[in-house]
Amino acid sequence: MNERMNVDATAMLWRGDGAPHEPMAVAAVELAAGEVLVEIELATICGSDVHTTRGDRATPVPTVLGHEQVGRVVALGPEAPTALDGAQVAVGDRVVWSIFAACADCDRCRGGLPQKCRRLRKYGHERTEPRWQLGGGFATHAHLLAGTAIARVGDELPAEVLAPLSCGTATAAAALDAARRTHPHLRGRAVVISGAGLIGLTLAAMASDAGATVVVVDPSEDRCRLSLRFGAADAVGTGVAELSEALEALGFEAPELWFEASGASRAVAAAVAAIDLGGAVVLIGSVSPGPSVAVDPERIVRGLVTLTGVHNYAPQHLAAAIAFAHDAVMRYPLAELVGATEPLEDLDDALVAAAGGGHVRIGVRPR
Ligand SMILES: [Zn+2]
Ligand SMILES: [Zn+2]
Repeated sequence: MNERMNVDATAMLWRGDGAPHEPMAVAAVELAAGEVLVEIELATICGSDVHTTRGDRATPVPTVLGHEQVGRVVALGPEAPTALDGAQVAVGDRVVWSIFAACADCDRCRGGLPQKCRRLRKYGHERTEPRWQLGGGFATHAHLLAGTAIARVGDELPAEVLAPLSCGTATAAAALDAARRTHPHLRGRAVVISGAGLIGLTLAAMASDAGATVVVVDPSEDRCRLSLRFGAADAVGTGVAELSEALEALGFEAPELWFEASGASRAVAAAVAAIDLGGAVVLIGSVSPGPSVAVDPERIVRGLVTLTGVHNYAPQHLAAAIAFAHDAVMRYPLAELVGATEPLEDLDDALVAAAGGGHVRIGVRPR
């Protein structure tokens, strides 16, 4: 039997094509076994929310966007799900959750790619339906489905550090994991990161924690300066000569690992052209349609180069992101990445501010 309960929730409904968000009142939710209702404390605007509202990528509408958030459990369905730490989720737990719910049973889930589950449901990316109106982070409440990875996060960390964990930070953890398949030890290695957004900055901190020498590439001087506070040894603009000089000054001929987090086709081409023999290029940023990039296959073959794509993440990467946040919060200015916070009803203004790029993240706070 599902639990039906009354709520006083508001979700910001987006109908597509430049339409402003409309507040949608939700008066009741029905929770099935393994489902959870969370009251949202803070959401952050991810770059993909900006791309969606600008029309750069398609999404089914009407929808409630937002997939980076932290909140507190206020109700449970007939069976409480198990959190990542093995405890049963309980009312009152402060939680973050995965960007998706997966079935755990299909070939992709069994093959270790739950983010590509055949029956995937993705928060902030699905058409709103009567049984699941609270499916995104830009709302007062979120309805978590069975098959969602839920992590209890305690009260120590500020919401500004916790909200981005479920997309940006966990994706950075997945990218690092992908790199470790060919480069298990990062100590002493030259790592280049293009794109100093939340993923790039987090990777800079994670890679430098692992002992790598990190050079960040970003066209913005502000972001370059910020990169130095996230463990980068140097940060340069997008010129090829600049990067070579920076690497040389640090004692390296070429990058051994390159994390491409900008999504710019030129950066993808530059990474493949510059990577050292035996090196690996991990592509994370190319998440909306863009121009093709010419790749010289002989360079890949003779250079023994590994080219890897990373999209979203698996539950262990959310756990790794949380562990990173606890460990890194005193050493890196994680909370400062949320540069401004707007009330939920001003979501459209918040999206404009996010698109401006002056801050790595803009927060959205219900009530
Ligand atoms: Zn995202
Ligand atoms: Zn599945």
